[in-house]
Amino acid sequence: VADPDAIFKQGFLAQVYEQRPSKNVVTRFPPEPNGYLHLGHSKAIAINFGFARHHGGTTILRFDDTNPDVEKEEYFVAIQETIRWLGFTPSEITYASDNFQRLYDLAEELIKQGNAYVCHCDEAETKRQRGGDKGSSPRYRCADASQDVEANLHKFRDMRDGKYAPTTAWLRMKQDVENPNPQMWDIAAYRIPQDQRPHFRTGTKWRIYPTYDFAHCLCDSFEGITHSLCTTEFLMSRDSYEWLTQRLVEFQPMQREYGRLNLTGTILSKREIQPLIEKKMVQGWDDPRLFTLKAIQRRGVPPGALLSFVSELGVTTAKTFVDNKRFQQTVRQYLERTVPRLMLVLDPVSLIIEDAEEEELDILFSPKDSKMGSHKVRLTKRVYIDRSDFREIDSKDYFRLAPGKTVGLLHMPYPVKAVSFEKDEATGAVVEIKCTSVKEGKKPKTYIQWVPEGSPTAEARIHTALFKSDQPKSAPGGFMNDINLNSETIWPNAMVESGFYEVRRRAPWPKAEGEKTGEVGPESVRFQAMRVAYFFLAQALDSDCTDDHIVLNQIVPLKEDLGK
Ligand code: ATP
Ligand code: MG
Ligand code: MG
Repeated sequence: VADPDAIFKQGFLAQVYEQRPSKNVVTRFPPEPNGYLHLGHSKAIAINFGFARHHGGTTILRFDDTNPDVEKEEYFVAIQETIRWLGFTPSEITYASDNFQRLYDLAEELIKQGNAYVCHCDEAETKRQRGGDKGSSPRYRCADASQDVEANLHKFRDMRDGKYAPTTAWLRMKQDVENPNPQMWDIAAYRIPQDQRPHFRTGTKWRIYPTYDFAHCLCDSFEGITHSLCTTEFLMSRDSYEWLTQRLVEFQPMQREYGRLNLTGTILSKREIQPLIEKKMVQGWDDPRLFTLKAIQRRGVPPGALLSFVSELGVTTAKTFVDNKRFQQTVRQYLERTVPRLMLVLDPVSLIIEDAEEEELDILFSPKDSKMGSHKVRLTKRVYIDRSDFREIDSKDYFRLAPGKTVGLLHMPYPVKAVSFEKDEATGAVVEIKCTSVKEGKKPKTYIQWVPEGSPTAEARIHTALFKSDQPKSAPGGFMNDINLNSETIWPNAMVESGFYEVRRRAPWPKAEGEKTGEVGPESVRFQAMRVAYFFLAQALDSDCTDDHIVLNQIVPLKEDLGK
């Protein structure tokens, strides 16, 4: 396992710390409550919380709730749960909206300094001011920029009091239109939202709202954020960030930018996930085929594996495009050493071992780690194997069970040889295979899994990639035309050996995780179903999974070629 703190000890984040060494590091994670967090956000969470923790500091969870047109209360809870699940605890939970009055007062102050003006230009005119379509014409300011302070104050108060229709007036910072950086071309500080919906915290108190560029840096300062870490789309914004804090506040935070994390073969953006839900291509935001953090959790990925993934990729200023196969590979490696193994058959068919003596076998949970202990499996005369491990007609290149052929049964003292089989006349399906033990001869080439008679049944859900191509957005006709309609397979009558109950009783798996993350026992029942896949008991997350109806979600396949 990669050292999750390695990214803070060298490279980009170590340099960020050197630029501002501090005994009292304060960072923030600032989600906008307009949707569920996704895989990319786990990088932001790991960086912000991890950086502070590494330097003995604290991290504030700040909801960046400055746009009532798109924000909803339901997201607050989900975002907090996800952060806790990843094992982080905010020192404080704050809301940008708590500062609306203070921000407003500072906007007036900026006007009084002569550093802001109310502008009435529309989008087209503003574009011309900024050099036109190609950006190559000379830049200029409108007449509004030379209004006196009194006029600006008056107009700004009128904006606040609802005397202007949406988009007819906005407050602009008076920066430097000669500067090559577009973030300095008199950008917006306050706007009148189109929909005028009530804000879920401040109701109808405000008709005007600060922009990200105005609010974010000032809130950072109010909260004493020492290192304001964000993604590289904000690189140009650093100039306006510093321009504004230098004019309005004492405490100067430092903004630094790292590369976003992106995944191939899927989509992460809320705007694009929404139609998938509406068209019922997925069940909801936490559908295991999506890469929201709720979906990843429901699929059974341990939070530690997610953090290892982020840490292995490292942090630089480059945008990282990662193949989702690599994500699965990291998860698989993480699980391989840390979860117990059991036998499970997805599609059981009866196998009678005619000369078997009933006995009890003691089986290790992991051949690689005896500390995981062992469990008992009763060898019965009738066992169940997977239908796909039997063929009615043998062939030379086939090494599993067929009439006259010998195969090993995992953990069993001897191999078996099929002697006959019966079919259901109506369906043609094999219903029972008879075999005898083979106590002498060569070791079999293949060992297959089995479960004893009377083993618990389970519903196993296997999810594979939701999209057919690696770049669903560039697929002909867009990502909606790239959907793999067979991305969910349900095995309603799977059987798992009764050692499953012992695994469930002894959760969390992985063991060390439980202490470090926000998972509780029932949220962390994971095992390797030998020769099948890694599975997760969905009890805490899938509402139709109960004590009597076990639902298992595939976390990742055992090998890449079995699906993405
Ligand atoms: P999206 O539109 O994809 O949901 P966002 O940037 O609008 O992303 P926010 O809720 O505003 O999402 O982001 C909260 C924090 O998470 C920000 O600091 C943002 O830079 C960071 N973040 C968002 N997406 C990623 C990503 N893919 N990789 C790394 N950090 C990210
Ligand atoms: Mg967003
Ligand atoms: Mg955003």
